[in-house]
This record gives sequence, C-alpha cells and structure tokens, in this order.
Amino acid sequence: MHQDYWNSCLNLIKKELESQSYNTWFKPIKPISYSNKILTLKVPNKFFYEWIEEHYLEILNNSVKKVLGNKITIEYIIKNNINDNEDKINNLNLKLNNDITLVSNLNSNYNFNNFVSGKCNNIAINAGKSISQKPGFTGFNPLMVYGGVGQGKTHLLHAIGNQIKLSKNDNRIIYVSSEKFTSEFISALKNNSLEDFTNYYMSLDTLLIDDVQFLYGKEKTQEIFFHIFNHLNLNKKQIIISSDRSPRELDGLEKRLVSRFKWGLTVELEKPDFETRKKILKEKLSSNNIKLSEEIIDYISFEVNTNIRELEGIIISLIAHSTIEKSDINLELTKKVISRIVKDSNNEIDIDFIQNTVANYFKITKEKMKDKIRKKEIVIARQVAMYFSKDFTNHSLKSIGNHFGGRDHSTVIHAVQSVNDMIDTDNIFRNSIQDLKKKFQIKSL
Ligand code: ADP
Ligand code: MG
Repeated sequence: MHQDYWNSCLNLIKKELESQSYNTWFKPIKPISYSNKILTLKVPNKFFYEWIEEHYLEILNNSVKKVLGNKITIEYIIKNNINDNEDKINNLNLKLNNDITLVSNLNSNYNFNNFVSGKCNNIAINAGKSISQKPGFTGFNPLMVYGGVGQGKTHLLHAIGNQIKLSKNDNRIIYVSSEKFTSEFISALKNNSLEDFTNYYMSLDTLLIDDVQFLYGKEKTQEIFFHIFNHLNLNKKQIIISSDRSPRELDGLEKRLVSRFKWGLTVELEKPDFETRKKILKEKLSSNNIKLSEEIIDYISFEVNTNIRELEGIIISLIAHSTIEKSDINLELTKKVISRIVKDSNNEIDIDFIQNTVANYFKITKEKMKDKIRKKEIVIARQVAMYFSKDFTNHSLKSIGNHFGGRDHSTVIHAVQSVNDMIDTDNIFRNSIQDLKKKFQIKSL
C-alpha cells in the first residue's frame, strides 16, 4: 500500500523537478510504511535528509498532501550501512561504512622535518603539530590557514596529514584540493553516485582541503561541503582548510560557510622574513647537496623576497646554469640568474600590482577597493583599477570581480563603461588615466 502511495507522490514530484534532481534526491528514497498518518521514508544518509528538507520540503509536502490528505507526518529513517539496522532520524546516531577504501593523497615529501619555521609561520606550525597529536580534539578545529602563493599552505597541509598518519595510523585521512572535490561532486551527480560521495567524505576522521577560494561561485559544491563540514564537525572530526586569502576576503563564498571556518583557529602564513628565507634556502641547499658561501646565501635571501616557490626556482636555475656553463656557483653567476628571473617575474602586471598603483595614485588604501564602501572617490578608484585589470591582465571578468571583494562580473563591465564615459567627458580624469597607463606600459616592457 505505502509503495503505491509513495509512487503517486513521486509522480507528482517528478513533474516539478528536473530529471537530474529527481533522480538524485528522490529515486533513492524507499517508502517503509504508512500508518496512523505517519509516512516513513528511508533515505541513504543524513545528508540526503538535510538536503531534501532544505530544498524540496515544499514539493514533498504538497505531493504528500495531495495523495494522503492533510496533517500527515513524514518520518525519515536512515539506511545504516554497517548492519542494516535502521536509526530513526530524531534519535540520530549515524554510523557509516568504514570499509570504504581510502586514497589519502598525502605526499610524504612534504613533512614537518623539511618545513622551516620562522616568525612568519610559527603559530601555524605549532597549531598543526598539536592537531597531529589529537586530531579533532584541540581548540584548533577547524584550522584555517591562509596566505599568498608559494607561502607553504600546501606543504603545511601535507605535513600535518603525514604527522597524523605517524601518530595515529588508523586515522581515516585525506588531502583533497577544492578543485578535485568539485569535480568529484560533479561526476557523482552525473553518475547518480552522490550517496557514495557523501558517505566517503562523511566517513573521514580528518579532512584536509586545499585552496577553498576555488569554491567561489560554485554554490552547489559549497552547499554539499557545508553539510559535510557540519557532519564532521559535529562528530569531532578534524578539518583543515587553506585559502589564498583571509576569511574576511572570502566574500565570494557563502557567509554561513565562511563563518564556520572561523570557529576554530584562523592563522596566516606570512611572507617569510629575511632570516627565515635564509634558513629555508640553507635547508633546500643541503637537501640538494649544494654548498654555497655565506655571501651568496645572504645575497639570494635578500634579493628573492617574494615567496618560497620563487626561492626554489632560483636554486634550480643556479644548478642548471652552473652545469651548463661548467662554472662554480659564484656571486657573479648568482647575480646574473637572479636579475633574469626576478626581472622576468616582476614585469608581469597582475591585479595586485594594478590595485596598489591605482590606490597610491588616488591616495586611498588597497583594502578600501575590496570593501563595500560607496564613497565617490573610492568607487572611482575601484572602477579604474578594474578597467586596467581588464586591459593589462588575462583575467576573466569573473576573476577580476573576485579580486575586488567578490564582486559580480557585471560590476566589472559596468566599471569599464563608466571609466570610458568619464574619459570622454572629463579632461582631468582623462589625464589621470593616461598617467596611470604610462606606469603600466613601462612596467610591462
Ligand atoms: P602554497 O600552497 O602556499 O602556494 P606551497 O606549499 O606549494 O605553497 O609551497 C611552495 C614551495 O615552497 C613548496 O615546494 C614548499 O615545499 C616550499 N615551502 C614553502 N614554505 C616552506 C617552509 N616554511 N620551509 C620549507 N619549504 C617551504
Ligand atoms: Mg598550494
């Protein structure tokens, strides 16, 4: 009987939804019973139940009402993978299948032994080490690390993961980039294997997720991540997140998600200072069996001050040059290599450079450009910086908007139009634009 009732409900629901949503969310539901005005449905996991309640409650209620009448209670039961017992949702004790095989993706070359500490990363390292001893049970849950390119986020995530593996061999842990997480989610939707996808992530003890800024604009992925996050957090599982910007600047992400990132510890991996650069350089040299004089080490550490990836690039180039030119690595060669590489990277114009230059020119701070402030002079500076970002970089409109505090691509289009209008109508403004343009043209030579 209940099967027939439910089939009638499904027929109504089907009409309301796209077939993919229907197949994903409603097909896996099994009707269990209908009595005393209670319709009991079995769902694959808690995540399904939450998603349906959040997105399809009205559609579901309406269909049940049409088929069974008013005042029907819907009760959910969760499929329990372990022994096929069933748990009532309101008495929820969700056990997941621990047999799912796990690929941790951890790279053992990134560990704490070769992660050099300094003023720029001490807090992050200490937090990471305490987490490794008691994943899930420190105040640092989630741990959110942020910092610019090449500042060691990925290395740190792997180091924490590897250390957890060492101290707790049975910890179910994976490292995943946000990009990979997104594509796995999309293929799970396509292949109707969302149940496996969510079960997999919800079965973890530790989740290391890299570069969450990548989830910008991917609402469905953010949403599923939100549910996984909640599930893991509720069960005292460890979550470690990295991002290339602070939570405050992650405004292209859903607020409720970002606010959860701040529940534990948020810590910045700063640009390494001179002393730390020197230490890192020495560590890289010794692991490559290269000896350099203190003078050269000082010179490199002083000149190469952007990030650690660039520092590594310099070492590789030095080795290459000294091999090809059959000469020792002396100061002269070092200077040559650095001037070439640092110059190469410096004449690239990026949005950050444009923002700095325009902010200086209009005597405001760069941060104001990313804020919501609507004061006229700030709006103009912001629009000008967007205009040049479109002109001088290869970023898409969407990406440009993202760099300006997560604004929409249409805002960027509007900015470009406004600047063009002002160039046509305002002589002083036109001169400013020409001044700025010269600065960018010289830089890009
Ligand atoms: P991010 O993920 O922040 O862009 P990575 O973790 O990929 O940066 O780091 C870039 C390179 O610099 C990697 O090869 C990494 O091993 C190295 N690196 C970064 N920070 C350190 C550090 N503190 N000590 C040693 N090597 C580091
Ligand atoms: Mg990285």
